[in-house]
Amino acid sequence: MANYVDPGELAAWGDKQRAAGLRIGFTCGAFDLLHAGHVDYLEQARALCDTLIVAVNSDASIRQYKSPLRPVNPQEQRLRVVGALRSVDAVTLLDHPRPLPLIEQIKPQLYIKGGDYAASNLRSAKALAAWGGQAVVIKVQFDSSTTRTIERAALLAAHAEPEKLPASAARGIALIDRDGTIVRSVPFLHEASRVELVPGAAAALARLQSLGLRLAIVTNQQGIGLGYFSTDDFIAVNQATLKLLAASGVRISKIYYCPHSLADQCACRKPGARMLERALAEFGFPPGRAFVVGDSAADSGAAQALGVASLQIDEPDAASWDAAAAAIEAAVAQW
Ligand SMILES: [Mg+2]
Repeated sequence: MANYVDPGELAAWGDKQRAAGLRIGFTCGAFDLLHAGHVDYLEQARALCDTLIVAVNSDASIRQYKSPLRPVNPQEQRLRVVGALRSVDAVTLLDHPRPLPLIEQIKPQLYIKGGDYAASNLRSAKALAAWGGQAVVIKVQFDSSTTRTIERAALLAAHAEPEKLPASAARGIALIDRDGTIVRSVPFLHEASRVELVPGAAAALARLQSLGLRLAIVTNQQGIGLGYFSTDDFIAVNQATLKLLAASGVRISKIYYCPHSLADQCACRKPGARMLERALAEFGFPPGRAFVVGDSAADSGAAQALGVASLQIDEPDAASWDAAAAAIEAAVAQW
């Protein structure tokens, strides 16, 4: 990338701009899903200076300050997109929670932020004064954000869902454990290539679905909390699982997961009932309209705590799944 400046070269870059008599503007952000608000604010920023450098937050820093599920787009791609904008003269990577270390190297005349707060409140204002710089805040014209874009996409997806399900599709919910129940048990499973369905699981889930039950996965993922694998690894395994299930017409409505280790003593890790509680609340079913299916005492323990019926997959085979599906079918027939 022609206008990418390595974080180690920022001081030299700043010197070069100043030697050329250019007024440097600096700004930073995640720029995850680029929208009109970003473009507008970067154009306004560029109009205030002669050369604009944008520090794009690293994937690691976004996970830390925003959410372990962000960013949507990896840093190489976000740098590429921001760097291609006409208003942007240079891009660099921001791998800190705050931009001050980069600002101190570049020594820009202007530190530009988009938003509504007062420039004097910025922590960096004092540092900038050391070389005669100042902070300015730009009012963004568009009411858009990455979060809003994601929420809108999710909303549209949620509205598309009912069309793909039979009309009777909201009688209850089956809350199903993942490891050892839907997919074959592999200790700390984190590679999509190792995902293998338990025989009979897909057919049984399709049967539950045809009874009018929504399906959700409820899974303990202590490996995340222990640092054995990342949230991204977990998502990749889910993606492989959902793809295999989709081949049998099975649609999982939501995945609930606990990322904590045993030592965290959270309320969500099964046999804790927090995840099941959330699922019932979000889907709007009472305990009597739900079933838990799992392969361990943690699954049945969580179910018991809420008065939800539970079915045990004792062996990872079709006979166990058939028995569970038949029992659920018999119970639903009594509704
Ligand atoms: Mg299990």
